[in-house]
Amino acid sequence: MSRRTGVKRLQVEVDPDLCISCGTCIDMCPEIFTWTDDDKAAALTNEVPEDLEECAREAVASCPTEAIKEM
Ligand code: SF4
Repeated sequence: MSRRTGVKRLQVEVDPDLCISCGTCIDMCPEIFTWTDDDKAAALTNEVPEDLEECAREAVASCPTEAIKEM
């Protein structure tokens, strides 16, 4: 009987109150981040696919207001 290793996928979320709409995260990682109707960034998906984890983490690190939270 095999047991799942329980690798936790990166999850990201944008706090719209902190987002200043600079567009950096969307430029860096458009597969994960998009604009909302309020011209704020938002995550398109709750769980970041493995192949997009690096750009998602770079976007988190590059956000000037630390509006993107890793969960
Ligand atoms: Fe908003 Fe940060 Fe993305 Fe800029 S990088 S659009 S401040 S969430």
